[in-house]
Amino acid sequence: MSMATAPEERPEVAKYPGGPDLYRLRHSAAHVLATAVTELFPDVKVAGGPPIENGFYYDFARPQPFTPEDLVQIEARMREIVAANQPFEYSETNRDEARRRFEGAGEKYKLHFLSMVPEGAKITYYKNGPFLDLCRGPHLQSTGQVKAFKLTHVAGAYWLGQERNEMLQRIYGTAFATQTELDEYLKRVEEALKRDHRRLGRELDLFSIHEEVGPGLVFWHPRLGIVRHLMEQLWKDEHLKRGYQFVYSPHLASEKLYQISGHLENYADLMYSPMDIDGQPYRVKPMNCPGHIMIYNSRKHSYRELPVRFAELGTVYRYERSGVLHGMERVRGFTQDDSHVFCTPDQLEDEVIAILDLMDFLLKTFHYDYRCYLATRPKDKYLGTEEEWAFATAALQKAMERRGLPYEIDEGGGAFYAPKIDVKLRDAIGREWQCPTIQVDLNLPKRFGVYYMGPDGQDHEVIMLHRALYGSLERFAGIYIEHTGGEFPVWIAPVQVQVIPANPKANDYAQDTARMLKDAGIRVETDLRDEKMGAKIRDAELMKIPYMLVVGPREADAGTVSPRRKGVGQLETLTRQAFLERVQKEVRERS
Ligand SMILES: [Zn+2]
Ligand SMILES: [Zn+2]
Repeated sequence: MSMATAPEERPEVAKYPGGPDLYRLRHSAAHVLATAVTELFPDVKVAGGPPIENGFYYDFARPQPFTPEDLVQIEARMREIVAANQPFEYSETNRDEARRRFEGAGEKYKLHFLSMVPEGAKITYYKNGPFLDLCRGPHLQSTGQVKAFKLTHVAGAYWLGQERNEMLQRIYGTAFATQTELDEYLKRVEEALKRDHRRLGRELDLFSIHEEVGPGLVFWHPRLGIVRHLMEQLWKDEHLKRGYQFVYSPHLASEKLYQISGHLENYADLMYSPMDIDGQPYRVKPMNCPGHIMIYNSRKHSYRELPVRFAELGTVYRYERSGVLHGMERVRGFTQDDSHVFCTPDQLEDEVIAILDLMDFLLKTFHYDYRCYLATRPKDKYLGTEEEWAFATAALQKAMERRGLPYEIDEGGGAFYAPKIDVKLRDAIGREWQCPTIQVDLNLPKRFGVYYMGPDGQDHEVIMLHRALYGSLERFAGIYIEHTGGEFPVWIAPVQVQVIPANPKANDYAQDTARMLKDAGIRVETDLRDEKMGAKIRDAELMKIPYMLVVGPREADAGTVSPRRKGVGQLETLTRQAFLERVQKEVRERS
């Protein structure tokens, strides 16, 4: 006799974000949706409708597309079904009965799901009102318990997610235990939409991606170019202070290099096809590490020289499926703020601490909270010995402990060649983004024969750390645009001050003021267009420029300015020098 798994114990239910109760609620809401749709549109065929992160959906086959008006009507019908408080009734059946039923109704999608039920497993229905579904549950007791829900949108979805199959219509919705939670969620979604970096990228003239160039390849416009320059400058200054050496490596390399590194063997999928140079296959680089090893290995190193810390803003190209590309956040060409540290086993822990210090400095500068995860040895496929893994993992762990950083363990989450610390940033609206990573490589030093000469005069294998702290500049910038909502702090804002003459008579004073600020290193623009002052103020507002200086004859006579601070409002009138000092202070403090 075999015990059937209770619905609550199925992994997708037990591990559902928000818990099994929320799973039950959202799955029930999906049935209420299907009930409403089959009642209102008797010609539809139903496919399936599971809970998903943040909500639920149900797939339908119907020749005409559902319109926004249809959604309003469906939602209204759903409210009636909830008010009717129909019980969800569980029943069991057998394969033949179920087959006859769905064949009779022409429900070919359900027939497919029926065929997927393993031999010997129970075949179960849930029914509410007129709607009966082949379903494993779990459900609420009745539709009346579906309290707070909302349909959000319709999108096409291939049957079984495969592009050669027909396109179904997927109606999405969400449901929460309380109206307050639903309202808060909808507000967060709206906020995320407002901050979408692809939208802000267009509106603020920050970057573009072109069909003629190819997907996943990003063009940085001047307004984001200056942001990148300042990110790089900060990064470089800090690395020099902390004992790193800058290196530069070519974007192309012979396949020989990637044979040694193992990339051809292990990462062929993410590398672009070879190009023929003088009859030899070359590749664009997918990673910077082999290049840095070439530099290290170009001469012998004594233990006295270690640690050696190479850093490069290294541009790499990796293949990503077009379906997963997303603005600047997931791309095919990007620049990593990459670094490789070569050290002795004794130095490892201190090196990790130094990296954590630098990471903390950078993330705090951009006003992020973050969380650390220690990703340990994968269960099955891994390189290196158990002792090596234990040593490297303990070093990462002790470093976080000595630094007083809380962390969680991501069991088996390491790369197959390295344990690592993964760091997730938390943005202004509470979303988490994986950016920095610190890895102890247990593979490349062996493949390339990377050694140092010890006090005993013998060669010893180095410990090699990989680390990126921004991750990639593209991704970091994309996330930062969303974190700030495009309102960059003064120190990194593309334009820090917009000078607006109140009328043409003030043009000279406006230009003179701009010149004075510019000479002091402030990024300033003067709006001399033949437009009304109100329109100029509105435009500067839309471009999210931190300071606006509206100057008229009165200011010109007194040699003053009356600044407006974005998000604060009108400030008191002050001298130009006092204003300059105020801006300079904000830049210095990167506040
Ligand atoms: Zn169901
Ligand atoms: Zn690396």
